[in-house]
Amino acid sequence: MTPDLLLPTAPIVRPDKDRFLNEENPFEGMMSRFDRAAELLDLEPGIYKVLRHPEKQIITSIPVMLDNGEVEVFTGIRVLYNTSRGPAKGGIRFDMNVSLDEVTALAAWMTWKCAVVNIPFGGAKGGVICDPLKMSVGELERLTRRYTASIIQTLGPDSDVPAPDVNTNERVMAWIMDTYSMHVRHTVTAVVTGKPVEMGGSLGRREATGRGCMIVTKQALAHLGMPLKGTTLIVQGFGNVGSVAAQLLQREGCKIIGISDRTGGYVNPKGIDVDEAIAHVKQHKTLEGFAQGDRVTNEQLLTTDVDVLLPAALENVITSKNAAQIKAKIICEGANGPTTAAADAILDEKGIFVIPDILANAGGVTVSYFEWVQDRGGYFWTEQRVNDSLTQIMEQSFDAVLNLSKQHKVNMRTAAYMLSISRVATVHRLRGIYA
Ligand code: GLU
Repeated sequence: MTPDLLLPTAPIVRPDKDRFLNEENPFEGMMSRFDRAAELLDLEPGIYKVLRHPEKQIITSIPVMLDNGEVEVFTGIRVLYNTSRGPAKGGIRFDMNVSLDEVTALAAWMTWKCAVVNIPFGGAKGGVICDPLKMSVGELERLTRRYTASIIQTLGPDSDVPAPDVNTNERVMAWIMDTYSMHVRHTVTAVVTGKPVEMGGSLGRREATGRGCMIVTKQALAHLGMPLKGTTLIVQGFGNVGSVAAQLLQREGCKIIGISDRTGGYVNPKGIDVDEAIAHVKQHKTLEGFAQGDRVTNEQLLTTDVDVLLPAALENVITSKNAAQIKAKIICEGANGPTTAAADAILDEKGIFVIPDILANAGGVTVSYFEWVQDRGGYFWTEQRVNDSLTQIMEQSFDAVLNLSKQHKVNMRTAAYMLSISRVATVHRLRGIYA
């Protein structure tokens, strides 16, 4: 550990240069889609201006005592994009590529996502620039608790409710809940969602995002007149979202012919046994060494001939550089922002049916909503009730977006933005501007 890590400001961590391929940053990508939908909706200038700005951005330095006795200072961010429809809602990610622009885009996407599925939340997101894989459990706990204390002014079941995201999980949510509860001097389960079931978490929450992807993929297949049985699927990113979506779609009869994680991809036209892949990851932490299938790069995986492509990792993997080579008929965006705005136009030209992120991956926050409702009511649902309610909301939302897309002759992404922006704008109109 070098002495400069003891300085009061965090080391500046530059996002990986190749990550955004200089094509766009996620905030600009989100804004260009917003602008198009706003124009089609003929949004009045005042509300247009309000919705282009995040309500609140917090950047905080987080000193943490490392196991070796030295101090490291990390940078943490929490952005509340819009709270007109209810408490801010959105995950917290631990990742080296976290930046203010990325977190702001993700917070805006949470706003639109909650509105698409019509749950009474605004949108938020948080992130800490760190590499959790290189940190011990003790270091992660101290980081989480100090970050929570630093943003405590926004947190609360009525104001801002975090959840898991990239590299955070139930255990991290338990630390956030405990830290918050210690500060307010009583136990507040509803301050986070995605908690362990033993302490107020919801059954079905862990699988909810992947389950939601499965539900909307089935609807897209039915809409396009494609059969479920034998439909081929490739999942890029084999974490909590991708692995569950792959497992559930395999159970529905789809054939999973490719999977990948950050160690690389595996393609097998005869089909991959998803349960075995999950067991491999459980044992080895990654897919490295997975024997079923040919080893390919992530890039080759994305452009393999397949019916459904399900990107379920990070932003900006489908770009103007590879969109023309994509052969899938359906893209189900399990990740947030996996497709750049420039790639949208190419996918449209090719006639690829895209289920946009703010709809496709909304299952997670929908069950977060059920968890928050259960915590506040102090009455817990069966897993069946959770899954049935999730299916109902996902199906209704898919149909609403599809109808709008037909009505306005726009793609599913533009329709989803139109639906959500109009819902947020309506509330702004009703509430007016406080002076
Ligand atoms: N991180 C998830 C997302 O991006 C879940 C957010 C939540 O449940 O609040 O949708």
